[in-house]
Amino acid sequence: MAQKIVAGNWKMNLSLSEGVKLVNGIESKIDSTDVRIIVFTPSLFAHPISQLNKKDTEVGVQNFNENEAGAFTGEISINQVKSVGVNIGLIGHSERRLYFNESHSVLKAKVDAAIGNGFEFIFCCGEPLDVREANQEFSYVKRQLDESLFHLTDAQIKGGTIAYEPVWAIGTGKTATTEQAEEMHKAIRTWIVEHYSEEIAETVSILYGGSCNPKNAEELFACPNVDGGLIGGASLNPEDFCAIINSF
Ligand code: PEP
Repeated sequence: MAQKIVAGNWKMNLSLSEGVKLVNGIESKIDSTDVRIIVFTPSLFAHPISQLNKKDTEVGVQNFNENEAGAFTGEISINQVKSVGVNIGLIGHSERRLYFNESHSVLKAKVDAAIGNGFEFIFCCGEPLDVREANQEFSYVKRQLDESLFHLTDAQIKGGTIAYEPVWAIGTGKTATTEQAEEMHKAIRTWIVEHYSEEIAETVSILYGGSCNPKNAEELFACPNVDGGLIGGASLNPEDFCAIINSF
């Protein structure tokens, strides 16, 4: 069975003290422990937040560089992240693709660097509005997965995590309908079956992201192929984030 995950993406928000307050608030409000909870903090905060040693909340980074080390000013390597005890990161968030020109090949290199260093990741995919309006969303998302993820072997992809985040739903307040989310999640699961096997497809968690909130989380999470959520705005408030987690 795929693991149930609810992850928060803080993006470039919050001070350290606000982040500490948020994580303390999350821990005090959680009533379900079979959901894996991760907060993707700014890299600078990953260590102090992880040092809070919370029972239910794991910490990850929103980005990392695909190179081992060297002259990459302003970047952070997997080994540096791992050296502070943090072992998971996002790959391919649409904001990284759009504002930092992260191409299919760069994302493939990040996937390979993560695999090579035993570093867990959530691979993000999703189509922009013009692509959906042109009814090209399935081929668009499939290409993102084919180019950067589906070169992995059975053993490498097994138990991995993919986040489907339609770009038109991120930070816009416009959520995919349960039908739109489920049909894309089902398509992603089917592609995993085609590339790998049914058994492996059942181990991959497929999360939905895009204006997920306490009001719509329950029906989204009730879709058979939705294994959880990647939450932006609503993860910055412990009440909303915990209501989303508790809606499982
Ligand atoms: C995100 O940034 O991954 C995201 C889903 O944002 P929001 O929930 O704010 O749409």
